[in-house]
Amino acid sequence: MKANCWIAPNRVAVEDVPDPRILNPRDAVVRVTSSAICGSDLHLLDGFVPTMKRGDVLGHEFMGEIVELGEGVRDGLRVGDRVVVGFPIACGDCASCQRGLYSVCENSNPNAAMAELAMGHAPAGIFGYSHMMGGYAGGQAEYVRVPYADVGALKIEDDLPDEKVLFLSDVLPTGYMAAELCDIKPGDTVAVWGAGPVGQFAAASAYLLGAGSVIVIDRFPYRLRMARDKVGAETINYEETDVLDTLREMTAGRGPDACIDAVGMEGHHASAALHAYDRAKQAVKAETDRPHALREAILSCRNGGTISAIGAYGGFIDKFPMGSFMNRSLTMRSGQAHVQRYMRPLLERIRKGEIDPSFVITHTMRLEDTPQGYDVFKHKQDECVKVMLRP
Ligand code: NAD
Ligand code: ZN
Ligand code: ZN
Repeated sequence: MKANCWIAPNRVAVEDVPDPRILNPRDAVVRVTSSAICGSDLHLLDGFVPTMKRGDVLGHEFMGEIVELGEGVRDGLRVGDRVVVGFPIACGDCASCQRGLYSVCENSNPNAAMAELAMGHAPAGIFGYSHMMGGYAGGQAEYVRVPYADVGALKIEDDLPDEKVLFLSDVLPTGYMAAELCDIKPGDTVAVWGAGPVGQFAAASAYLLGAGSVIVIDRFPYRLRMARDKVGAETINYEETDVLDTLREMTAGRGPDACIDAVGMEGHHASAALHAYDRAKQAVKAETDRPHALREAILSCRNGGTISAIGAYGGFIDKFPMGSFMNRSLTMRSGQAHVQRYMRPLLERIRKGEIDPSFVITHTMRLEDTPQGYDVFKHKQDECVKVMLRP
């Protein structure tokens, strides 16, 4: 089959790779009908994650049709079912899964020892997301093996098109969890750094959860326009105004009740133990290129407010403003999204018309054109917000 593979830093290519097959009784094989490129894929693209190998199949946002099922799959899935698959791989049975903490499942990362070296404890396996996250082949492909299919794959009725449900795999639950972590009270003001797909859905979810006003911060006017026109947010372009001063003015001097970092380590690959010396040097330089979203979020939040750090980080982040964080009684919450917890309720909201996630799609491409999709998405060309792939 054809699949989009990581080749070298800043190089991906569509190559012929072996078809996936059932390896364990709770596996399914899914024929992918739609897939997407995520901001998280950009963290792999640039080569800062050291456990990528040439030929690794990328992609963790996908949906399709079950073409093969292991004999141990519970929960009534059938060959021919149309499913959307959550990006963290989770067994459903371990202590973490039982608490609904699917992205830290204790049984789905066969390379846990590798991850423990970097993080202390291992998170769950993730499709197409480096060997440290389990080394699973991803869904920017014609077919993909889905372990623990009865936990990860949600059956979708035929009346909802792929565009409306594909993002249940990641960015919609991620944005929703980002807002949920803020513990929003009716009328609260929520600020969101980053107007990518995650930021757009975090802003929309903040309104769904009762926020009175949402302020989205980015530097790309077309992304900020989307946040205004499609989500109803106010916006700040951080290249035009000072973010901390402007937020203060917009909130009667107090600061937002909650601040969501939907940026992550973009341009801020701190000098982590993970990185080789030459990468660390580039990283330190990148640290000074533009404001650091997480630091701004902490410094601008009102006293006693909440920071929701949903953007992805690896290694260490230097110059964490601990003094401001501690003395002002802030709370910080974070995590890879526990997607399986949110898929069903969000599918309900889509069905009821409370949210239509397809508004973020700006590009639809063939699988063969995935490398071009990475290019356009990475460089924010052609007003790109989200690339959908049709294998
Ligand atoms: P994206 O690249 O499309 O969007 C990131 C946006 O942040 C860009 O528009 C960029 O201009 C903006 N930005 C950069 N620096 C900024 C700054 N200092 N202030 C304000 N905005 C700034 O990516 P995305 O797909 O929306 O993903 C966003 C982040 O969420 C990534 O770090 C991704 O890895 C992470 N993510 C996390 C999870 C999770 O489970 N926690 C899941 C999916 C994605
Ligand atoms: Zn993602
Ligand atoms: Zn588990």
